[in-house]
Amino acid sequence: MVPLTNRKGKNKEMAETKRDYYEVLGVPKDADEAALKKAYRVLAKKYHPDANPGDKEAEAKFKEASEAYSVLSDPEKRKKYDQFGHAAFDGGAGGAGYGGFDFNGADMGDIFGDIFGDLFGGSRRGGTSNGPMKGANIRKSVRITFEEAVHGCEKELELVLKDPCEDCHGTGAKPGTSPETCPKCGGRGQIVYTSQSFFGTVQNVQTCPTCGGSGKVVKEKCPKCAGTGYTASKKKIKVTIPAGIDNGQSIRIREKGEPGVNGGPRGDLLVEVNVSRHPIFQRVDMNILSTVSISFAIAALGGEIKIPTVDGDVVCTIKPGTKTGTKVRLTGKGVPSLRNSQVRGDHLVTVVIQTPDHLSAEAKEALRRFDELTGNTLKRSENTETAEDKKSKKKSFKEKVKEVFEDKE
Ligand SMILES: [Zn+2]
Ligand SMILES: [Zn+2]
Repeated sequence: MVPLTNRKGKNKEMAETKRDYYEVLGVPKDADEAALKKAYRVLAKKYHPDANPGDKEAEAKFKEASEAYSVLSDPEKRKKYDQFGHAAFDGGAGGAGYGGFDFNGADMGDIFGDIFGDLFGGSRRGGTSNGPMKGANIRKSVRITFEEAVHGCEKELELVLKDPCEDCHGTGAKPGTSPETCPKCGGRGQIVYTSQSFFGTVQNVQTCPTCGGSGKVVKEKCPKCAGTGYTASKKKIKVTIPAGIDNGQSIRIREKGEPGVNGGPRGDLLVEVNVSRHPIFQRVDMNILSTVSISFAIAALGGEIKIPTVDGDVVCTIKPGTKTGTKVRLTGKGVPSLRNSQVRGDHLVTVVIQTPDHLSAEAKEALRRFDELTGNTLKRSENTETAEDKKSKKKSFKEKVKEVFEDKE
């Protein structure tokens, strides 16, 4: 959409009160192109309707600045304006007439793309001419393991890539012939529709359906590429995945996308990385979390255990009297920073004390003896048992005997 503010009638009414274009942009008469662009950029950012919803004054200022820039940025229009002032464009004598000023030019498209493409996050409109255009991006995804994400890896992707046809050099015309100017759009590659909207009259620019935006049509098609100008082939592309990449992040490989149009650069290849879940490690930002089981004996007496990390097993000393849920920090064993692989997060291990099961009779006896020495909790719990508990205990006595015999086997 390109705003078209200068309707004939309005312009005549405003002719006398209209501010000088240089004054509007706040630049000297001899300002160069860069200075004009800079001044307009500042004003357009400040007064753009998207940034000032419902503010009529801002809207008027935006239109005024856009009009001033559109005239002064065009050397021919600027020359006329310098000579005749606003009269040059109000349809009066001596001027270029109404046609001398419109927003129809590619220049506006460029600066709008320039300013608002990054400012408002909107999609950048393509150029309004059939000049060089960057090719489309290709998206692919690749699955890697947790360890590969931590340490970085190389993957080979196979994809079908288009290349300009060797026979017709991308024109799509049969060798010996050449493409002709598109009759529908006159070679512009785009068709302009006018409609009413918030800005007043707006122009909608659409890619020409006849020539697909190239501005050219092929009468006799190249047999090799069937007139498309491209041939497709399977290609293998190596992707270097940096250490520290996280699930869902993408890697951009420049100029490995679709070929450009009219000599423009290729689009990019965007590789989305999917990281598989790990059975024991979990990532939180740059840290790795895991749990490790230790025996009650180690927890009570202290000792050394092996902790698995992404760098292999690490030997860690457990202090006597360690409680379950104790956290051990392994500094620098986490995920590296994407920016600097020397900087790494930590590995945080939660220690869990394992309760023994399937004890042998001897082990059970030792445990009972241990209990007697450390507070006699078993005896105490027997004393507080209800009658029902005792009944159920008797019932399971046979089973207990059985268990003991089984253990001996
Ligand atoms: Zn061809
Ligand atoms: Zn066309």
